Amino acid sequence: MSDSEEPQQKTVIGIAFGNSNSSIAFTSPDGKADLIANEEGDRQIPSVLSYVGDEEYHGAQAKSHLVRNPKNTVAYFRDFLGKSFADIDPTNAHSSAHPIQHEDGVAFSVEEKADAEPSTLTVSEVTTRHIKRLKESAADFLGKTIDGCVITVPTDFSEAQRKLLSEASKACGLEVLQIIHEPVASLLAYTAREDTSHPADKTVLVLDVGGTRTDAAIIASRGGMFTLLATQHDYELGGRQFDDVLVDHFSKEFIKKHKTDPRENERSLAKLKLECEATKKTLSLSTSAQISIESLAGGFDFHSTVNRLRYDLLSKKLTDQVVGLVESVVKKAGMDLTDINEVILAGGTSHTPKLASRIQQIFPSTTAVQAPATNPNALNPSELSARGAAIQASLIAEFEAEDIEQSTHPAVTVTPHLAKPIGVVIHSPEGDEGKAEDKVYVFLDAETAVPARRTATFVGTKVGGDVLIRIVEAKKESVDVTPPKEVKEKVNGTDDDDEDDDDDDDEEEEEEKVIKRVTEVEKVIAEALLKDVKKGQKVEIMLNVAGDLTLTLTARVVGGKGGVRGTVPG
Ligand code: ATP
Repeated sequence: MSDSEEPQQKTVIGIAFGNSNSSIAFTSPDGKADLIANEEGDRQIPSVLSYVGDEEYHGAQAKSHLVRNPKNTVAYFRDFLGKSFADIDPTNAHSSAHPIQHEDGVAFSVEEKADAEPSTLTVSEVTTRHIKRLKESAADFLGKTIDGCVITVPTDFSEAQRKLLSEASKACGLEVLQIIHEPVASLLAYTAREDTSHPADKTVLVLDVGGTRTDAAIIASRGGMFTLLATQHDYELGGRQFDDVLVDHFSKEFIKKHKTDPRENERSLAKLKLECEATKKTLSLSTSAQISIESLAGGFDFHSTVNRLRYDLLSKKLTDQVVGLVESVVKKAGMDLTDINEVILAGGTSHTPKLASRIQQIFPSTTAVQAPATNPNALNPSELSARGAAIQASLIAEFEAEDIEQSTHPAVTVTPHLAKPIGVVIHSPEGDEGKAEDKVYVFLDAETAVPARRTATFVGTKVGGDVLIRIVEAKKESVDVTPPKEVKEKVNGTDDDDEDDDDDDDEEEEEEKVIKRVTEVEKVIAEALLKDVKKGQKVEIMLNVAGDLTLTLTARVVGGKGGVRGTVPG
């Protein structure tokens, strides 16, 4: 074969596409993933586009236009992709171009050309323009045409959102080889570093504290296969809330000196926000930081300093919330903190030393917490997603499209999950209103990895008689569900305090508090009838869902004899 006939290696990149920032990475021939800086030298490229005159600005340059030209500056749009206007929370876009309803989606109205009417840019169009700029930066840096990419998205990105993202990328000539979950990419970034073909089995918690949201995921890594076990999200907790702590702190100082509140003027507030973000970042590296803003408000300049201790105190509530999210995802997975072998801190806000040390404190000392403040060898948390995406891109670059879909590569394999929540309906001949009533409870939440087994105890009937139990597929809702294991403990806990069990109302109340009801039943999967249950007696239900989704239901009266058992194929 002559040189000219040799197959050309594809040039592929990894893209982390965040609401606040995006980054691009590539894998060198020796298998090392590295971030690519754009023309301004930024590796964290703000996901922002701004239109001034006939110019389009991107990244940090666009972000600086939030002060002078907010209404033509589009920011925080990633999570709007594929959503209807009624479903979005526009809070983050308060100080930039406002989202508007467009057909059944979301758009922005911006003056993108001088002396022309404003144009309507759909979120898909903005995404295409943003990815185009990222692709051009990568092509300039590598000196090659980019053939394809792997993009990371949060675990709650829907199929429709993924499809739109692929299409938006294709529209600027960049083929998406695969879309992978952010926490899987972060784990991959660390696993690739282990330098072994057999990574150790471990259960890892990936905590991603970004700019606008915080996401936690638990991943089981077994024999190099990754399984997503549980996820939890907080859409009102991120770096922006940490910025606001300093915004409020300095505003109070400014008011004391100049009797005017810089938060009341949009431009002053925008300036203050940008500078507070910079000050916050400095506090991750130094124990004190300065802030200096010319003509902040009322013509007054502002100069001040803050030390880390003060900042840690001011932001304690937010740190507590992050810790709470970590604890809740562990609980959701039906695990204990001691079951987690490693915690990976991802996202820009994970640079915060206090945050990392607080997370370290709740875990046993044997659990490694990978963050710059707790491990000097930790990778940069802002770079994990893009690195993981670049590693995955290089692994699948030469695969055919259908092979990627069916790829059994560790990074892309997740165990089967329940598509819909499974609920239990308890039929009571005499319910709260004195009439026959069905109560529906979530038993196994959607996305629960199978095989799974849950047991819970319910009060069978208030009046005595037969109890009909139906196992149902419920409508998928994003509700927080208390795991039935805990329900059982709580219900039994009441029992211990109340041996003779004569206070049915208390019992019912306890039950109401701890189990979330679902409203809509989609399909009945199985039924069981327990005969002659006495007033107030408890019924224990055990549900086993096998890997092939075969469902086994066992129901019995607590303390009674026998019970019923049935199996439904998957
Ligand atoms: P999201 O999608 O949640 O908006 P993202 O993935 O787009 O987030 P990231 O780059 O992970 O964005 O996080 C951005 C946030 O991280 C910003 O609030 C930024 O101020 C913060 N951040 C970046 N570097 C540091 C640092 N050194 N110390 C503290 N916070 C930082």
